[in-house]
Amino acid sequence: MIMEPCVAVLERLSADLGCSPVSRELAAELDRRDELGHLRQQFFLPKVADLPPSDLSLVDGSQECIYFVGNSLGLQPKSTKKYLEEELEKWAKLAIHGHTEGSRPWAWAEETIEQLMGKVVGAKPEEVALMNGLTVNLHLLLLSFYQPTASRHKILMEDKAFPSDHYAVESQIRLKGHDPKESMLCLSPRPGEDTLRTEDILEVIEEQGDSIAVVMFSGVQYYTGQLFDMEAITRAGHKEGCYVGFDCAHAAGNAELKLHDWGVDFACWCTYKYVNSGAGGLAGAFIHEKHADTVRPALLGWWGHDRKTRFQMNNMMELQPGVHGYRLSNQPILLVAPLQASLEIFDMTSMSALRCKSMLLTGYLEYLIQHYYTRDPCRPDHPHVTILTPRDPQQRGCQLSLSFSVPIGRVFLELERRGVACDMREPSVLRVAPVPLYNSFNDVHRFVELLGASLIASGSQK
Ligand SMILES: *Cc1c(COP(=O)(O)O)cnc(C)c1O
Repeated sequence: MIMEPCVAVLERLSADLGCSPVSRELAAELDRRDELGHLRQQFFLPKVADLPPSDLSLVDGSQECIYFVGNSLGLQPKSTKKYLEEELEKWAKLAIHGHTEGSRPWAWAEETIEQLMGKVVGAKPEEVALMNGLTVNLHLLLLSFYQPTASRHKILMEDKAFPSDHYAVESQIRLKGHDPKESMLCLSPRPGEDTLRTEDILEVIEEQGDSIAVVMFSGVQYYTGQLFDMEAITRAGHKEGCYVGFDCAHAAGNAELKLHDWGVDFACWCTYKYVNSGAGGLAGAFIHEKHADTVRPALLGWWGHDRKTRFQMNNMMELQPGVHGYRLSNQPILLVAPLQASLEIFDMTSMSALRCKSMLLTGYLEYLIQHYYTRDPCRPDHPHVTILTPRDPQQRGCQLSLSFSVPIGRVFLELERRGVACDMREPSVLRVAPVPLYNSFNDVHRFVELLGASLIASGSQK
């Protein structure tokens, strides 16, 4: 699909309307044209008055908050409660028979949603398992895919990977008798740059590939919002004989993933961020079907046993092929139900449609921020905002990471008082994520207005 650049869309539409591209009218028009706008109705949006830091002397508490923190915890689908209640009912009324009865028999409940999950990450149902938490799945996958030898023992990753991934890799290296100091190859951006260049990643793979056992990047970097070129990284890794895996925590439900087509060896992700399954939700794991008969789980449990003979209890393992053999325990139905609720909303559209809206939505945010807060040498005291996230829409998801010329703590507080939910990361980054499933163009416009008010307020109280 060829997409018109965002700025061109905004300028053409505002010219048609006879308004300025930064006017509220344009936001309203963009929402009118948004074919996915109705999906917002599928979610509960918190009201300003219910958010603890909001200050009702500054903002009308009865309106919906601006929720730009779906990168951290997605909103609750309205159907979640119903699905949970169905399972509680079933437990109350049928007890043990719930394992095999109803629309979601507990004993194989997760299998009914693997197909939906697969569509979101670009995988076949048999390549996806829904189980455990993200970090647990990363460990289970590395136990199989990280098989260091004396000459090929390194894991290549980002220097500023999410702490849990860093610790997981560090401990896996130690577990296999190697030293993280020698075997953990952490890649930093060039001096003075905020994000990694694809060419630099590919070069390290090419130069050091024969000592690298596993290349392990995130899909979307949690701090900078950079979307890595997973296809190119996978190809480069395979050329050097490495396994290539991705942590898609910030990519699943955000970017358009094609884990199968790209030939990615393994991946893991959580579902409480862009996939809206609720805090601590069931995580995902992917192993490409090409490994179904060759890569085996290091740790076994009864849920990895073929379902048809699982209950014969004869202690003769008939391992399910691929990632399904990695299941250890029976499924937590109370985590399956909310994940199903969210995946059914994803199934009302497609990742390509969501991505299309996302590029416009985030591009619009970028446009407004640039319009108001680009550094102006003639007004050195005017606060300005720098966008750390790559400017190329192909190299980012929906999140923009902003850094400020003024102390961030105060700005963040002022935003919260005005009913904006976003996320601050020390030392100076504000992460804002307009999520195409439930955020509107009006949200973006209001956010930028409130950002202006917050900057003024934080300046006057210095
Ligand atoms: C959110 C996130 C995690 C969190 O791990 P859990 O095991 O779900 O607690 C780990 N890694 C990355 C990259 C994340 O974005």
